[in-house]
Amino acid sequence: MKNFKMKNFKINNLLVLMLAVIFLVLSMCGCAMKTSETGQLSKGTLKEATRDIYAMDTYMSVTAYGYGDSAKEAVDEAIAEIRRLDLLFSAVSENSIVYKLNQNGEAVLEGDSLEIVKKSMDIFEMTGGAFDISIYPVVCEWGFPDRNYKVPTIDGLAEALSKVGSDRIKLNEKNGKITLEEGQQIDLGAIAKGYTSDHIMDIFDTHNVTSGVVYLGGNVECYKMKADGEKWRVGIQDPLNPGDGASYLGVVNVNDEAVVTSGPYERFFVDDIGNFYHHIINPMTGCPSQSGLVSVTIVSPDGTLADALSTAVYVMGKEAAEVLWNEHKKEFDMILMTEDNKLYITEGLADCFEAKYECTVLK
Ligand code: AMP
Ligand code: MG
Repeated sequence: MKNFKMKNFKINNLLVLMLAVIFLVLSMCGCAMKTSETGQLSKGTLKEATRDIYAMDTYMSVTAYGYGDSAKEAVDEAIAEIRRLDLLFSAVSENSIVYKLNQNGEAVLEGDSLEIVKKSMDIFEMTGGAFDISIYPVVCEWGFPDRNYKVPTIDGLAEALSKVGSDRIKLNEKNGKITLEEGQQIDLGAIAKGYTSDHIMDIFDTHNVTSGVVYLGGNVECYKMKADGEKWRVGIQDPLNPGDGASYLGVVNVNDEAVVTSGPYERFFVDDIGNFYHHIINPMTGCPSQSGLVSVTIVSPDGTLADALSTAVYVMGKEAAEVLWNEHKKEFDMILMTEDNKLYITEGLADCFEAKYECTVLK
């Protein structure tokens, strides 16, 4: 297990980094928002509404701008939607459909639960198994869900890994009946936040807000342009230099897109002898992924896809990710950072990414 140690990480810096992640994106969104305090005589004054919430095991913030009560109503509805989806998708809450499925081995899915599981199955295929919601027994073996962290025994890990494989889940897409194999359990933690932010964009649309942004842990999704006509500026956390006060590897300028980052710093533990273990698991090995990447950001109008792919690409590594991107160029772009501090962006981001490090454009 010793070889999981991440050479480039200084553990003290990681704590600083976790706080910086929250500060950086919010402060950058904040800078952008101040510019939208404009008025229009015909419609009255543009109003801002913001609410924060702790859900899906992370800090979240929803902000919208609109005339009349539209922004406030949209944000209130967005918060209610986050709570609703959290209750539905949680693997640890006893009333959730996911919890019941994991306990009983079968369930009838409908609405959101059916939609997100179907999409998860598609992305399992798309990523050659790098994204796999049936990873949950392995995630539990490492103690991530209840933060009771431990390095698994060889036998314990092998047993948990033998349950992993979304291709062995039976899903009847017509009637929603899902059946797991004995001992299989699912975890929507790598896709649920993206699914939620997509729903919030729909809520913004329904309420006719003029612009908005959501920050759900490592997921940012932006609605329309800022009121000043500029794109939203989203800072991407630098995983290797967290302590320098400007700890981002770059800034991406977007509108109507999700910007989702996966990194080992989001959840990890260090064992008694200083080995570092993080939460993004390679379904082939059952161990924290060591693909040579230290940060993956996916930019896409599809927040659900972006969330699942940020996790999958982290597992796949740079070469396999390039192959995937070449097959799906129209669906997403990506920003990769490798262990040797090199940045790679796909060509769709060439005009909207400001890099801190030497950066190569992938074509
Ligand atoms: P994210 O922060 O979106 O990268 O998601 C990471 C979370 O997804 C972890 O905390 C696990 O709960 C779960 N997870 C870990 N590895 C995988 C994987 N290879 N496929 C799907 N879910 C995963
Ligand atoms: Mg994800």
